[in-house]
Amino acid sequence: MTATVFLDEVEIFVLGGRGGDGCVSFRREKYVPRGGPDGGDGGNGGSVILAAEEGVDHLTALGHRHHWRAEDGQPGRGALCQGRSGKDLIIPVPPGTLVFDAERRLLLKDLREPGDRLVAARGGKGGKGNASFKSATNRAPRQCTPGEDGEVRRLRLELRMVADVSLVGKPNAGKSTLLSRLSKARPEIAAYPFTTKYPHLGKVVLDHERSFVLADIPGLIEGAHAGAGLGHEFLRHVQRAAVLLHLVEPEPYDGSDPLDNYRLIREEMLRFDSDLAKRAEVVAVTKADLPACRAVSERLASRLNQEVIPISAVTGENLNRLVERLWDTLRRQRAEVPGF
Ligand code: GDP
Ligand code: MG
Repeated sequence: MTATVFLDEVEIFVLGGRGGDGCVSFRREKYVPRGGPDGGDGGNGGSVILAAEEGVDHLTALGHRHHWRAEDGQPGRGALCQGRSGKDLIIPVPPGTLVFDAERRLLLKDLREPGDRLVAARGGKGGKGNASFKSATNRAPRQCTPGEDGEVRRLRLELRMVADVSLVGKPNAGKSTLLSRLSKARPEIAAYPFTTKYPHLGKVVLDHERSFVLADIPGLIEGAHAGAGLGHEFLRHVQRAAVLLHLVEPEPYDGSDPLDNYRLIREEMLRFDSDLAKRAEVVAVTKADLPACRAVSERLASRLNQEVIPISAVTGENLNRLVERLWDTLRRQRAEVPGF
């Protein structure tokens, strides 16, 4: 089984800047007749560069603009002045972005890690000024060359990330809030259900060597296993995560019993895929800053006969403990099922 989540796709045009033209010019100084050629070279055009950066979590922003063009180089000038080079245009993309040449349908690069880069469209070279053509036989050349056009490419970008841990829980349980608290991802958060429309992924960093990807996926609703609402899509993503983090709200807005809610979510998942029963699950009761949390955590712990962690994304209570527990669970799961 592959744990890759396909997330997002966008097509863009990238255009390298044009090189500046070379210049034809002759030195003109008082009392110096027939000064030599002094036309400078044009500057190079800037390149379009794709750069994987931490904290960028989807490609949606790129879709708002179709053409990405780097700056042109400036033309050369007299007195051997070289034109200024055009600035590179750097486009930040999420780590995990695959870059395809859309016309030739070929993978150009997998920008997997933060810091990975691809020169997607090289800028054109600047033209030569007439000073460059001076030779023993031609002391007064009138030649120059124009700047070259930059490269033009149509690219297709696909975002793929491996979600190690997937959040599950009723709408309003606090999933999006927790993700934004633990990572740099910025999912929508609102005081009403169903705010998450597509998966958000964030990297949770414990220290230099330890990090994992946490996914927040559209809210699970009853009947999801049969394809109701956003649920079906959600469950396919959940299936691919190595560990589940089940969040339970202590004071549901609809007055329902938190323990029933936990059970409903489990049943819904298992109806979709009974193998999910064996998936490692960490359970936390959210909103520990509210009075109901403790009692609900204790009831749930004794019902499940397993550890239940009361957490608060608002005060930060027990978040370190939760993250360490997730890391341990992930490591054990990986040891049991290599490649997960
Ligand atoms: P989701 O539907 O599971 O993604 O839930 P959200 O993250 O959108 O949160 C739902 C509501 O619960 C929002 O109004 C949040 O501000 C609130 N919330 C989330 N975490 C906490 C918490 O730790 N304490 C309190 N008091 N409210 C929280
Ligand atoms: Mg949400």
